[in-house]
Amino acid sequence: MENSSPPWYDEPNMVKIYSTLSRKKEILKPLVRQPADRGKKLRLFVCGVTVYDFSHLGHARTYIAFDMIAKYLRQKGYNIFYLQNVTDIDDKIIQRANELGEDPKKLARRFEKEYRADMKALGVSAVNTYARATDHIAEIINQVRRLLKKGYAYEIKGDGIYFDISKFKEYGKLSGRTTGQTKDAVSRIDESVSKRNKGDFALWKLDGSGDSPSTSLRAGTVPAWPSPWGAGRPGWHIEDTAITEKFFGPQYDIHGGAQDLIFPHHEAEITQMESVSGKKPFVKYWMHTGFLTVKGEKMSKSLGNFITIRDFLEHHSPRLLRLLVAKSHYRSPIDYSEEILQQSANELQKIDEFVDRLREKSNPPAGGSKSKINPKLAFERALEDDLNTPLAISILFDLIREGNTRMDEGKLSKAERKEILDFLKEIDEFFGFIFWGREKQAVPAEIKKLAEQREAYRRQGDFQEADALRAAMQKRGWTIEDNPSGWKLKKLV
Ligand SMILES: [Zn+2]
Repeated sequence: MENSSPPWYDEPNMVKIYSTLSRKKEILKPLVRQPADRGKKLRLFVCGVTVYDFSHLGHARTYIAFDMIAKYLRQKGYNIFYLQNVTDIDDKIIQRANELGEDPKKLARRFEKEYRADMKALGVSAVNTYARATDHIAEIINQVRRLLKKGYAYEIKGDGIYFDISKFKEYGKLSGRTTGQTKDAVSRIDESVSKRNKGDFALWKLDGSGDSPSTSLRAGTVPAWPSPWGAGRPGWHIEDTAITEKFFGPQYDIHGGAQDLIFPHHEAEITQMESVSGKKPFVKYWMHTGFLTVKGEKMSKSLGNFITIRDFLEHHSPRLLRLLVAKSHYRSPIDYSEEILQQSANELQKIDEFVDRLREKSNPPAGGSKSKINPKLAFERALEDDLNTPLAISILFDLIREGNTRMDEGKLSKAERKEILDFLKEIDEFFGFIFWGREKQAVPAEIKKLAEQREAYRRQGDFQEADALRAAMQKRGWTIEDNPSGWKLKKLV
């Protein structure tokens, strides 16, 4: 295996990414070298959701972070192909469908649609392709067959096909672990009394195998596909490697996901794919996002401390969540609280006021001044260093402070104001909280009507009624600002 720069790789590249596999920051260079790409093509895969319910803010954190990462790298000139899977067959889905008396496939489609709607609402738009597990059953069976043929997998009659982890000497190289510990995705470690090793995981689950006593799946409600070993369904880890092998081949550049997927999920992926292909490394950079916590506990369905994206967006703007996510480094935890929400809302307001001020026509067209504001270099350096968004945002607020001071003094020239606005537009292509969602915020008809009624009362001098309507609007998350030319509606953040 050779990792040195290809000779045609003529552009020095400064972006450094921390990889969980090497446990250090590495200069970002493509693993799969293709002369035509001039070293700038990167294949990125991020684990998608299991579609059995509405997604919560923990999911939002991961996907907003990777949305920003992919968009930022694209702006840096990388040609990123961003692939995400959709786990639309899983015991959780079947169990939920059983509870609701719904067909599991229909339930999965329903929540896949809801997930996509949530992502759209959050401005998460960097993904090129979403690939469903159930659309890749042939690829999955093919991989299982090759693993059996090479002697890495074994069959337990009436149960399923399992990977024998004792056959893969490097099992544990990503996580540094070989057995399950608490707080992993434990519900997903396949339990079967006949396994050769405790850590062996299912590649294929035979129909009626009863391998999930905890989920007590109702007979006849479990989707199954024909296979050489009998009708059944795929194990969880195999879908990702089957999908990525189809789209990217046996090796690719970046694999991302939340940090609780490191073990056993990503460990299993490495084990499967390197065993099948004999090529190493399966993936060059492993990027893992930190948890979103509530009072120090991971936000999760099982702990019941979650807020769905849907609920959040009923009360707050998507920009607020994007800023909140970017304020922390992607690998660090975010402790979600009223305080951090309020703090972010205040910061968003500062940004809005600054942008409004830069755009004001009445701004004095001040002449030249000596100290030019140029945050670009420091900003770039921050992001090139493993996407240090908190540092980048502090540089942004330095810019706002200095810009405001200069405008107070009437010393910020028109050209400089335009330059700053252009810079903000550029960084908002990946941040998505400066202009995005602000400009497009449509005013609901109901709010418009209230505003017009209020204006009518005001003109009649009935200020008591006018104030009551203003309060009603504020309750619905909107504020009204009067100005000499009329009024302006603003969404409270
Ligand atoms: Zn995955």
